Amino acid sequence: MTPVNEEEAAVYDAVERWAEKEVRPIAKRFDHADEYPTELVEQMKELGLFGATIAQKYGGLGLSCATYARIVMKISSVWMAPVGIFNSHLIMAAAVQRNGTEAQKRQWLPRFATGELRGGIGLTEPNAGTDLQSIRTVAKRAADGTQYTINGTKTWITNGIQGTCFAVLVKTDPDAEPRHRGMSMFICEKGAGFAVGKKLKKMGYKAIDSAELVFDDFKVPAANLISGEEGRGFKHAAGGLELGRINVAARGAGIAMGALEQALRYAQERQTFGKPIAQHQAIQLKLADMATRVEASRLLIEQAANKYDSGQRCDMEAGMAKLFGSEAGVENSLEAMRIFGGYSYSIEYDVERMYRDAPLMCIGEGTNEMQRIIIARQLLERNAI
Ligand SMILES: Cc1cc2nc3c(=O)[nH]c(=O)nc-3n(C[C@H](O)[C@H](O)[C@H](O)COP(=O)(O)OP(=O)(O)OC[C@H]3O[C@@H](n4cnc5c(N)ncnc54)[C@H](O)[C@@H]3O)c2cc1C
Repeated sequence: MTPVNEEEAAVYDAVERWAEKEVRPIAKRFDHADEYPTELVEQMKELGLFGATIAQKYGGLGLSCATYARIVMKISSVWMAPVGIFNSHLIMAAAVQRNGTEAQKRQWLPRFATGELRGGIGLTEPNAGTDLQSIRTVAKRAADGTQYTINGTKTWITNGIQGTCFAVLVKTDPDAEPRHRGMSMFICEKGAGFAVGKKLKKMGYKAIDSAELVFDDFKVPAANLISGEEGRGFKHAAGGLELGRINVAARGAGIAMGALEQALRYAQERQTFGKPIAQHQAIQLKLADMATRVEASRLLIEQAANKYDSGQRCDMEAGMAKLFGSEAGVENSLEAMRIFGGYSYSIEYDVERMYRDAPLMCIGEGTNEMQRIIIARQLLERNAI
């Protein structure tokens, strides 16, 4: 992926150096200890990552989607999990940037951009992930209209413990038909009535907190209703998905790239039957497929990101990139495991982490089953006879 301009190329170069110098050496330790990498957060602030896609006039870097995807792919090739610290946060910021009133943008975006306020997005509930219109969290407006009271539970929320501020999808009219007309989104800062229920244990994506969030008569000012109008929350949530999918595609493709890099090196070092395993054709076939998946993912991401940056509709392209990039992460991490043989099962090597981290990309931002449905619908719509 080519940098958009010199300024963005400089940002990318700084992130690349940081990923190699600061992230790579600590990834294994923090992943295995499932410990939050606080020191990386401070460095991310300095790099401006919490404001990567926030417009410059609100204090962010205002990066193009293409450069942002490139950054995400690079960090993920080293260690995917830390990307969640700023990415989920930027999805929250995007909800305000795309849909907020000018006053809301001025109130929240500069504090998001510096990382002073950090958080994520609260959509999923114990009973509703894909079918978001089934959520049960309700916000009830006070008689004088100045505030709402929120009750309900969100689950799987990235940054749920370390974050203090979340864009939360609720029902403001639980009886509305169609159901999405009764949904709204609020910016909620932790406080009385809004607390962490529990930390969720995971097979991968370690060191980054995923949590249940509980709202128990939580009072939120009416001024925190994104866009100031009820009934738009589902649209706000769905509107961020194109960017979200390109980001997940880049995370999956990053893992695919990282697994390829590890496998290429190991295959030239490890000897069997008197020669490096890279000289065996069975291993070469794997390396060729892995490299092809990385390049194909990169091209799909670039195509979707360029369309996004030029303001064109790209839900099908973003869906294809997400589907292919995330599956590439899973396939390449498994192939790297095979190339590493028995050592792949040792916690000494990074490939076991990639193998645990990769499947999440097939679930987040719309499962890959749903991506196929979205792609097919778009195909039919664009090619209707
Ligand atoms: C580590 C992690 C971090 C996460 N972070 C966040 C976060 O920060 N914020 C947040 O809001 N959520 C987050 N999530 C939740 C994630 O977005 C959901 O898990 C995802 O949307 C899927 O929802 P679900 O788990 O309820 O699965 P379900 O919706 O129950 O789906 C189960 C299966 O059924 C399939 N399916 C469902 N409906 C259909 C259909 N109509 N047609 C065909 N197949 C269908 C799905 O594809 C899937 O295979 C996170 C999840 C994880 C694991």
